[in-house]
Amino acid sequence: MGEMDKRTNLTGLSQAELVEFIQQSGEPTYRARQIFGALHHRRLRSFEEITELPKALRERLNETTTASTLTIESRYVSEDGTRRFLMKTHDNLPVETVFIPEERRDTICFSSQSGCPLQCTFCLTAQLGLLRSLSPGEIVEQIIIALNDVYGVGEKPPRGTNLVGMGAGEPFLNFDSLMKALGIMADPQGLFIVPHRVTVSTAGVVPRIRELATIPQRPNLAISLAAPTDDLRDELMPINKKWPLEELLGACKEFELTLKAGERFTFEYVMLDGINDSDEHARQLANLLNRHDLHARVNLIPHNPADPLPYQPSSTSRVERFKSILESKGVRTFVRRPRGRDIFAACGQLAARREPNTIQVSSQSIVA
Ligand code: SAH
Repeated sequence: MGEMDKRTNLTGLSQAELVEFIQQSGEPTYRARQIFGALHHRRLRSFEEITELPKALRERLNETTTASTLTIESRYVSEDGTRRFLMKTHDNLPVETVFIPEERRDTICFSSQSGCPLQCTFCLTAQLGLLRSLSPGEIVEQIIIALNDVYGVGEKPPRGTNLVGMGAGEPFLNFDSLMKALGIMADPQGLFIVPHRVTVSTAGVVPRIRELATIPQRPNLAISLAAPTDDLRDELMPINKKWPLEELLGACKEFELTLKAGERFTFEYVMLDGINDSDEHARQLANLLNRHDLHARVNLIPHNPADPLPYQPSSTSRVERFKSILESKGVRTFVRRPRGRDIFAACGQLAARREPNTIQVSSQSIVA
């Protein structure tokens, strides 16, 4: 274990909190605005670089606070341009972030926890167990680090940035830090990534789905299903024993009823060869969603295999057949294309792997 750092991470404070913090230290308010802009708009990661602050102030800040806490341990670049960052916290725990370039936008997949307490049998992160939940600052820093690495420090991304909370961890077991981080990132004087551009995925923490239904400024929601019956879901996703399908889908319906124009709500269904991908499973899934009067789209995710996991991805023809059954019963269905599998960056593959099977490029190389 590394040394504990008790200093306040200023990257984890909202602009309003930073103003209060700075006023309490007897500095003028405009210093707070300068610092917030430097950390979140110019994406600087040390007080040293904020040269408009007097040297004495920078030194004082360094004693009681930090500008950033995560460090990059390694970085893997896929042949499809996806980058996986293996970072570590000040107390030496792994944090993984994935940058996925697409034609019209980039997507950054961030982690909400180091490791994960849920024990989904098809996900490699489960094997780490929960190390700890990440702070708001640690969530925001992942996005700053990924953008700086790809585009250069403070450079404006040429395309829009979407965020997905689908990295390591269960975001809804770290709800307050997650929502706080999203608020900080939405600030127009900072990263300016608004909730509308963010999708958070949950394995089904029912009370937080209900809570999200009451929040006006909120991210898009995705629910990981993986099975259409309690028997199978209990086995694949043990969280189902706590919040079974009836309860989960009831909360989903409650959430769906609160959807506003432009908000997205989806289900994720990982396709495991011979386990949850039969015609019967497709019919059960469609009936389940129809019975709850849910209209959300289903994303089929072919399983991303990883050595110790006892599953294989469903074949392309199986996935297509499954999709056509869902669609014949009125369920909108989309097949997700896996990204970054070769560098263990795809869904369910984040387990702090250090062996890449591809090159680790030096900083500032350009994505394909
Ligand atoms: N704990 C949250 C967020 C992380 S998982 C959740 O469960 O939603 C993000 C997505 O990856 C989930 O939809 C999950 O079902 C999917 N997933 C996990 N392991 C996978 C694997 N090995 N292959 C493909 N998708 C996987």
